[in-house]
Amino acid sequence: MQNIIGACPHDCPDNCSMYYIVDGDRLVGVRGNQDHPYTRGRLCLKVKDFEKHHYNEDRLIYPMRRIGPKGSRQFERISWDDALSEIKDNWTRIIEEYGPQAILPFGYAGTLSLLNGMNAGDAFFNYLGASIGEKTFCASGSVTAQVLTIGPTLGTDPESFVHARFIVLWGANTISTTSHLWPFILEARKRGAKVVVVDPYRTRTVAQADWHIALRPGTDGVLAMGMINIMIEEGLIDHEYVQQHTLGYEELSERAKAFPPDAVEVITGVDANNIRQFAREYARNQPSVIRLGVAPERHPGGGQGMRVVDCLPALVGAWRHVGGGLLQMPIFVPVRWDFLSRPDWIKPGTRVINLLQIGNALQGMEQGPPIQSMLIWNTNPVSQLPDSNKIIKGLLRKDLFTVVSEHFITDSAAYADILLPASMAAEQTDIVTSWGHFYINYNQKAVDPPGEAVSNFELFRRLARAMELEDPYFHLTVEEMLTQVLDWDAPMLHGHTYEKLKKAGSIRVNVGLPDHYKPHANGNFPTPSGKCEFKSSLAEQGNFVALMLRQMCPTNQNGERLDPLPGLASPDLIETGAGPQTAEWPLQLLSPKSHGFINSEYANVSHKRRIQGEQFVLLNPADAEERGIQNGDHVRVFNQRGEFAAEARVTEDVQARLVVATFGYWRSLNGGSVNSTTPYCEKLGLGCSPGSFHNAVQINKV
Ligand code: SF4
Repeated sequence: MQNIIGACPHDCPDNCSMYYIVDGDRLVGVRGNQDHPYTRGRLCLKVKDFEKHHYNEDRLIYPMRRIGPKGSRQFERISWDDALSEIKDNWTRIIEEYGPQAILPFGYAGTLSLLNGMNAGDAFFNYLGASIGEKTFCASGSVTAQVLTIGPTLGTDPESFVHARFIVLWGANTISTTSHLWPFILEARKRGAKVVVVDPYRTRTVAQADWHIALRPGTDGVLAMGMINIMIEEGLIDHEYVQQHTLGYEELSERAKAFPPDAVEVITGVDANNIRQFAREYARNQPSVIRLGVAPERHPGGGQGMRVVDCLPALVGAWRHVGGGLLQMPIFVPVRWDFLSRPDWIKPGTRVINLLQIGNALQGMEQGPPIQSMLIWNTNPVSQLPDSNKIIKGLLRKDLFTVVSEHFITDSAAYADILLPASMAAEQTDIVTSWGHFYINYNQKAVDPPGEAVSNFELFRRLARAMELEDPYFHLTVEEMLTQVLDWDAPMLHGHTYEKLKKAGSIRVNVGLPDHYKPHANGNFPTPSGKCEFKSSLAEQGNFVALMLRQMCPTNQNGERLDPLPGLASPDLIETGAGPQTAEWPLQLLSPKSHGFINSEYANVSHKRRIQGEQFVLLNPADAEERGIQNGDHVRVFNQRGEFAAEARVTEDVQARLVVATFGYWRSLNGGSVNSTTPYCEKLGLGCSPGSFHNAVQINKV
């Protein structure tokens, strides 16, 4: 038996370090790496039998060609040579007729690593001259909010949370979606910390917390503005810190005057006394820390609201302390995007298509040449993106040539003309950076892929050869790429090398140790002013585009000038209790991540489905009674866009007029999916984030 170091490749902030257990040429198990200071040897239930995933009998292991109607799942096996030759013929024809921008890359984070992850195809498609697929499915609103306010900082170290006295989990269901943070929170609680969760419904995390602030969905910014109002009124501001290390306090306090607790109660649904108490405890109990999740960005105005939350730690001086401040997206490690993505190959004027709008784009509603071909890899848009019926309509287009590289015939892969088999994590070497902690992990290839599956890295090398793209870049080996893909000269990696990473399996970036780390005790925010910017100079200049995440969001926000101040100017701009509900569609549907799946991954695996359970919808007893629905009834959740089947769970865990159904289930296995009903928003939010929680439905018993 061999133990080979690896790293979980899933789209999860924890990025667990682990070992592949190999017997001969076969993966026989996985185990967590107990020496990893953050993930500490525990793997979650999704991954602890990873070997079964690798050897799943449904796994796609040969290239295939469609032989039935699109979506019929009828394919025949072909060779790699035939697959590449068909792709080349089609793409050459399309380029001659429409130009290369008629080809659209569609990749995301199904595998989260540097060579095989969401940027794996960037260099290839940039060289080819294809359209750019803008990836703002998740976190682009929150990252933009963070960059505008406190800059691209790692923020508070999650390991430092043990020193906090007041912990706020804001829009984050920590136990289900970033569970390795929880032991640090429990340790802090043992030392006397209070744990508060801000969330519209009672999640698993809320059930374990000390206090639940159950606000109305999408009113996070108003709640935070109400807290600022109270902190100013009651003298809870750390004026010395604010004066030395922030920008725009006067303007922010002026705006906050419009948010007295009583008005905030009307909008957020949170009792004014609770808001007062929350603001007081947050300000007085230092160190206080906020873990800000991505959920608040999925409402109209959500990203702007998150900017208000980003302001809170500086106002109370929380950054002065070890364990104080805010942890949002610690993604800013020195990856050489110039080398990995080759943006220098993007031709001026290349069209950018936001992939959230793919349903419309496939129906010719984008400017420029019609999309004639897509390569989809590392993602399952039919399950994951809003308004999936519209996406399917596009994928059914007879003149669209669709190539999908996948592990399984997913709801999206079903519409492929050519299917290509992709390798899994144990079958490829890579580096994995985290969006939840301060370590970079190494993942060593442990076994050969089954059949003829190849890594995404190898896929794009093969495509480059097929398309005769002549550049030495496309001949670099995996090792040559990995040696260069991180900036080892950057201060954050000083003293580290690729060899050291390989040997250790994991390295911590150079930011000081968790028991001493106070990144902004003396300011040093990586903003243009070096201060926490309540009033954003980037927004003022209209020049924050360059700080967007590489190719994730190179365009501006609907072309509109952004308010330099966070949040809305006045509560008058928000209708009381504003939500998407109407007389016809009276229930707001939230669709968060599930406990048992990673996005749509594992939703086709029967034993994982047994653990997760069938699709359910949480609804309040009052709403259930009105519809004659009882706990356990089968119901139909629907609106003008589509529907899905679910089991009703009648519970006080959700507010009246609010229902919750987790996403990830495959529509082909489940009678529709949540995203059959979610809206594609014409007007995307801050950072082009989606508004998929602004969704209204009706529910009937079936
Ligand atoms: S899904 Fe997340 S928690 Fe589970 S093993 Fe992977 S990184 Fe760890």
